[in-house]
Amino acid sequence: MEHCHMIAKHSTELCNLYCTCCLSLNKTQLYPECQTYCTDDTTLQLFIRQKIDTRETKDILFSWKDDELTSDRLNFFKRVIELQQQFAQGKNIINTLLTSGMLLDDDWCIFFKTNNFLISISVDSDIPLRNNNPKSISSKSTTPMVEKSINLLQKHDIEFTTLTVINALNCQQPLRVYHYLKSIGSRHMLFIPLFEPLAQGGVDAKSLAPAALGTFLKTIFYTWVRLDIGTIKIPFFERAFVTWCGVPAPACAFTPFNNNYSVFASKISDDLCQCDRFINSKFLLSPPHQYSTTTMRESTINKIVEQRKPPLVKECASCKVKLVCNDGCPKDRIAFSQRGAPELNYFCESYQAFFTYVDPYMLMMRALWEQNYTPSDIRQYLV
Ligand code: SF4
Repeated sequence: MEHCHMIAKHSTELCNLYCTCCLSLNKTQLYPECQTYCTDDTTLQLFIRQKIDTRETKDILFSWKDDELTSDRLNFFKRVIELQQQFAQGKNIINTLLTSGMLLDDDWCIFFKTNNFLISISVDSDIPLRNNNPKSISSKSTTPMVEKSINLLQKHDIEFTTLTVINALNCQQPLRVYHYLKSIGSRHMLFIPLFEPLAQGGVDAKSLAPAALGTFLKTIFYTWVRLDIGTIKIPFFERAFVTWCGVPAPACAFTPFNNNYSVFASKISDDLCQCDRFINSKFLLSPPHQYSTTTMRESTINKIVEQRKPPLVKECASCKVKLVCNDGCPKDRIAFSQRGAPELNYFCESYQAFFTYVDPYMLMMRALWEQNYTPSDIRQYLV
C-alpha cells in the first residue's frame, strides 16, 4: 500500500466563502444532509489508529482539507495531534492541510509551526484581471484575505504551497498569474486545470479549452526554466522531469492503468471515494472505519473506479508522449477517439503540445543530472 494516499475531508465540502470559482462548490449539492458537520471523536480515533496501523512505512502522511479555520476546528486538530501521538508507535507522522486560509490567525500559525504542518493554500483567482477578482457569493473579493493569510504564514516562517485553479479567464495571461504568485511569496506552485463537463454535453463556460492548458504551461515553463528553476517548484514540471529520467510518474493522473497508486478522499465518518475528483454518489465506498486500508483498495467500488483507467486507446498507444501522459486522468476522458468513443483525454492537445515542447529541455536536464550536475544548471545554457 506504499502508493495509497488518503485526503481526509473533515468538514466535507462546506466552506464559509462559497467562491464562485470553487471546484467543490457543486459538490455540496451531493450532500444536502451535511450542512453542519464535524467528525465525532470515536470515528476520528478509528481513522487515525487504522491509518497508522495499516502502514508499514516509517513515515505516515495525513492529508487534511479544511477551509474554515475557526477555533472549533483548531480544537479538532489539537485532538488529531493528541491521537496521532497516542497511536504513533514510534512512526514519523506528517500532516498536510489544504485550506483557503480564511480566518487564519496567529493561534493557528503557532499550532502549524509547533506541529510542523505543511500548508497548501488556495489562491484561486482571475489574478491578472484585478477588477475581476474571484468573488465569494457575498460578492467580496477573496484576494485581500488570501494575501493576509499568506503574510501570516510568512511571519511565522511556515512553508506553504499555493494551489491555483486555471480557468478560461486567467489562462489567457499565464505570466501575470505566475508573477503574481511569485510576488506574494509562492515558492511552490500547484496549478489545477478547471474542467467541468455538463450533463447535457460540452463543458462549463469557465472550463479551459482543450488546447489552453498546453499554452499556459508552455508559457510559464519558458520563463521558469530560464529564471526560476531550482528556486521555485512547479510539480507539473518536476514530475515530467522525473518521468524523463525513467522513473514512473509520481502523479496518479499520469500513471498507467496497472500502476499501484491510489488517492482516496474521505469525508471522515461519512463517505469514502477513490479520489477527490471522484466525489460522486456513483463512486462512494463504505464508511472508512469499517475498512482497513487494504480492504478499501480491494473493494468492489474501487475496482469500478480503476476500470475507468482502461488500456490505452489507439491514439495513445502510438503517441510519442504516451510514457509521460498515459491518457491522463480518467475523469477527463470525454473526448471522442478515432473510433468514435468518448475515451480520449479532453486535454490531449495540451499534453501533446506541452510534453513535445519540453522534450529538448528535459533531455538536457537529464544529461546534466547523469553527469552529477543539478538539472537547474540548464539555466546557464539558455538565453
Ligand atoms: S497526449 Fe493524447 S494521445 Fe498522447 S497519450 Fe496523452 S491523451 Fe493519449
